[in-house]
Amino acid sequence: MSTLVDPGLAAAVGTHEEFDAAACMNCGVCTAVCPMGIEVLPRRLFRYVLLGMEEQVLQETESVYSCLLCKMCEVNCPAGVHIAENVRSLRHHLNRKVFGL
Ligand code: SF4
Ligand code: SF4
Repeated sequence: MSTLVDPGLAAAVGTHEEFDAAACMNCGVCTAVCPMGIEVLPRRLFRYVLLGMEEQVLQETESVYSCLLCKMCEVNCPAGVHIAENVRSLRHHLNRKVFGL
């Protein structure tokens, strides 16, 4: 199966607020502390955005809206990734792409 990548995806997601997850080192702390047990957020999903893999991002719409924005992941992130702001940016993007808002 081939995957089309969009090099402009991270910029498009960051139209509302800057999307910045480049510092993520995929340590898994965020997954370990997430009260919702969301496995894809933020590390895998953010990587999809940075790599321009929009199809995979759209498939994780439910996870993006399941996030409580509680910042438990963010305050424990050793790389200082602004996870909640990135989730908000993703929601704005998905509002446009999936729901046409
Ligand atoms: S805790 Fe931070 S650095 Fe570690 S995987 Fe999550 S977002 Fe990336
Ligand atoms: S902000 Fe979202 S992804 Fe992070 S710990 Fe809370 S529910 Fe999980």
